[in-house]
Amino acid sequence: MNRDRTSRRRFLLLSSSLLGTGLFGAAACGATSAAKTATTETARDAGTESSPKQAPRKTATESDASTTIDKVTYKVDTDDPVVFLTIDDGVTRDPDMADILEENDLKATLFLTDQYVRQDPDFFRGLRDRTGSRIENHTLDHPDLSTKSFDEQLRQIGETSDHYQQVFGHRPTLMRPPYGNFNDDTLRAAQESGVKHVVHWTAVIDQGAIQFAADDHLTSGDIVLMHFTEHFREDVERFVAEAQQSGLEPALLEGYLN
Ligand SMILES: [Zn+2]
Repeated sequence: MNRDRTSRRRFLLLSSSLLGTGLFGAAACGATSAAKTATTETARDAGTESSPKQAPRKTATESDASTTIDKVTYKVDTDDPVVFLTIDDGVTRDPDMADILEENDLKATLFLTDQYVRQDPDFFRGLRDRTGSRIENHTLDHPDLSTKSFDEQLRQIGETSDHYQQVFGHRPTLMRPPYGNFNDDTLRAAQESGVKHVVHWTAVIDQGAIQFAADDHLTSGDIVLMHFTEHFREDVERFVAEAQQSGLEPALLEGYLN
């Protein structure tokens, strides 16, 4: 579909401010350290992750203005054979990315950093509209929120949601803290910004390779993190292959976290 689009020519739009640090600096979640964080934090939370009181299944009717965010979602609590793709930041933008998602019949949750959205909101709007993906909150400029005051965290999250509501016509319901770092103020600031769930991850794909926080394969409810990089195609294809191998169907995170 849409293979005749004029977007055959490939180009990478790199933020000039990040050229100095190279793509790995630019892939700002830092997959290696991110995976380490996920492992550590998942291990720490392993008891609560699997306990019945964790992650009560909220229905749309339960999620009202009084919803309190009291935990970070690492993995969706579901028996459905589903797995979720999330794509972060937005520093590298290539028109082929929409084709790649479409060819693989994939919708993803895009945790975008506002500084990249501001460079090219049309790119992300187009990607969302062509693929049925969703755009969510990943702060204004990707700070380590755990080192910031409550007011600064509220600015980072709230102003991003205000801007996305304005340019995309939809206020984010999910937020992912950069580097996966957060504290209690992060949850409070997210909640005050209209966010319903603060989302981490249980697997990272980078340059076609996958790292798991636990296990050695995907399981129901896993949330997979990748980035907008020049390895987009191989990362997406790895996600599809891993899902298939584990008998899981890719699904949209927002269908389960609402
Ligand atoms: Zn990030």
